[in-house]
Amino acid sequence: MRTLESLNFDNSYTRLPEHFYQRVEPRALKGAHLISFNPEVAALLDLDPCAVQPEALARYFGGSELLPGSEPLAMKYTGHQFGVYNPALGDGRGLLLGEVVNDAGERWDLHLKGAGKTAFSRFGDGRAVLRSSIREYLAGEAMHGLGIATTRGLCLVGSDDYTMREGMEPCAMLLRVSRCHIRFGHFEHFYYRNMHDDLRLLADYCIERYFPDLAGEENPYRAMFARVIDTTAALVARWQAYGFVHGVLNTDNMSLLGETFDYGPYTFLDQYRPDYVSNQNDHEGRYVFRGQPGVVLWNLACLGQALLPLVEREALEAELQRFTSLYESHELARFRDRLGLAQVEAGDAALVDSLKSLLAEQRIDMTRFFRRLCDFDGGDASIAVLMELWPDPSRLTDWLLQYRERLSRETVDFAQRRARMRGVNPKYLLRNYMAEEAIRAAHQGDFSPVNALLTLLRRPFDELPEFERFAGEPPDWAGAICLTCSS
Ligand code: AMP
Ligand code: MG
Ligand code: MG
Repeated sequence: MRTLESLNFDNSYTRLPEHFYQRVEPRALKGAHLISFNPEVAALLDLDPCAVQPEALARYFGGSELLPGSEPLAMKYTGHQFGVYNPALGDGRGLLLGEVVNDAGERWDLHLKGAGKTAFSRFGDGRAVLRSSIREYLAGEAMHGLGIATTRGLCLVGSDDYTMREGMEPCAMLLRVSRCHIRFGHFEHFYYRNMHDDLRLLADYCIERYFPDLAGEENPYRAMFARVIDTTAALVARWQAYGFVHGVLNTDNMSLLGETFDYGPYTFLDQYRPDYVSNQNDHEGRYVFRGQPGVVLWNLACLGQALLPLVEREALEAELQRFTSLYESHELARFRDRLGLAQVEAGDAALVDSLKSLLAEQRIDMTRFFRRLCDFDGGDASIAVLMELWPDPSRLTDWLLQYRERLSRETVDFAQRRARMRGVNPKYLLRNYMAEEAIRAAHQGDFSPVNALLTLLRRPFDELPEFERFAGEPPDWAGAICLTCSS
C-alpha cells in the first residue's frame, strides 16, 4: 500500500517526442476542497485510503501542488466533431499528470480535468464546472457498476472559483483514472498533418503499451485496428442494451481501448426511446440513441482512414466490414442475458426485436421492466406486475406468451434464472434526475447526495432498501432536464 507521495509513477508518454504534447502545470483553484473520494479507484493505484488526507487530495487535485513523480502534460489530438474535421483540438482543460504502475504491473493514467488553460484551449477557459464534473464522476461509477467499460474518478475537488457557462457556475476538478487517454483523434492528427513517421511511432507506442500480444502479428497495425473494432462493438452493444446515450460521439471522445470516455450531455434513458437525442446542441440528431452503432462505425472508419499509411486499404475495409454483424451478435447476446436465455435459438433475434419495438411504442421504462421480468414465472401475479408498467397492457400479451414458450425450452429452473437475471438487470440506474438532485445539493454546499449515489451506483443489482425511492418512477420534472455541451 502506498501514500499519495509514494505512488509509483512511470510516465511513458513523456518519452514520446515533445511535439506529441505540451508540458504545462495545473493552475490552482481558489479554496480547493475535497467533495468526494473513491476508495475503489484508490485501490487500483495501490493507494491506502486510510493514509489519504482530504487536504492533501485537495492540494494535489485542486492544482496547487504537484504530486511527486508527476510530469503534467496536455496531449495533442484532433478529431471529427459532428462530422467535421477540427485540427485545433487537444487537451484544452485536462492534463495527463502521469502514469502510475501498481504492484500488479497495471498502468493507470491520472488525468486532471479542469486544470486550466493549455496551448490547445482555443477560446476556452481551461476549466470544468462542478455540474459536469459531478456528472462525469457519477457516470464512471454507474458504468463500472453495470459492467460497462469506462474511465472512473479517484476524487472530485470543489472550489470558490466561478466561471461563466449558462450562468456563473462553480469550478471543480476531477481526477480521472483510466488505462488509456489515447483517442481516435490522436491518430487523425498525425495522418492529416502528413506526419507518417510520428503516426507509426504512436501506433508502436500503443501496441507496446496496450496490445503487446499483437506485436508478433504479420501486420500489428491491422491487428490493433481489428482489436479496436472488437472492443468498440462490444461496448456500443452494451450502451444499446442498457439505454445509454453518449451525446457527443466525436472521434476525439472515442477511446482506443473501447471504454466509455468523456462524459458530457449523456443520458441513461428513462423511457425506451430509440429517437432520443440527449444533447440539446445536437440539432440534427446526429448522436440519437438508435444511431450510435452507425456513428461508432463511422468513427472507426475515421480511425481506419488515419491508419492508411500503415495498413493496406483493403485490409482496413475488410476489418470495418466485420463491425455490423459483430455488433449485432454482441447486442443480441446482451439482450439474451437480460431475458435470461442461456440457450441460443434462431428465433431469439426476432423475440428481442419485437420486444424492442413494443418498448419503444409504449415508451416503457426498460430498466424497471427488465427488473420485474426477473420475477416472471408465467403465473398471473407476475404478469400483472409487468403489465402495471404498460399504458396498453394488451400490447404485451402476445410477446409474453412467446417469451413464456421460449423459456419452457430453457434447462435452468426459475430460481436459477431469476438469480442470473438479477445479476444483469439493474434495479438502479443513474437517471438524469438523480444526478441533477445531487448537483443542486452540491451547489448548496451539501455533497452527501453525490457520495450516497456513489455507494448506490456501485451496487445497481442489489436490493438496497435505503435507496428504494430511486427504483421507482422518475419525478415529473425529470423530462424537462436540459443537457447541452456546456460543461
Ligand atoms: P469536449 O466537448 O469536452 O469533448 O471538448 C472538445 C475540445 O474542447 C477538447 O479539445 C477540449 O479540451 C476542449 N475544451 C472543452 N471545454 C474547454 C474549456 N472550458 N477550456 C478549454 N478547452 C476546452
Ligand atoms: Mg518518471
Ligand atoms: Mg472530449
